Amino acid sequence: MKASKKCPHCGQWSGWNQNPTDRCEHCHKILDPVKVASQQAQEVRKQEEKERFSVNFIQVDPDDAWYTKFFKRIGLGFQLAFVSIISLILWLIAFLAG
Ligand SMILES: [Zn+2]
Repeated sequence: MKASKKCPHCGQWSGWNQNPTDRCEHCHKILDPVKVASQQAQEVRKQEEKERFSVNFIQVDPDDAWYTKFFKRIGLGFQLAFVSIISLILWLIAFLAG
């Protein structure tokens, strides 16, 4: 069964599939702009959180010169140590808080 929704832009009733991104049959504007906006805000927040907690590890390219590989491996070692320390601290906080 197809639902219908009153368009907030032109005030006409329009059929919709209950997707927030469905558009009005009459004026072709988004039928549920509030929901679309809040979903987009949520997406942005998720993305920000992901970026905050992820480390971009150095990629060692097999075509790199030996000294490039050498320095990249040192950098990678530091990154791994850093991540282990951070996760240890987070674990400790969780442990102590519990
Ligand atoms: Zn409309």
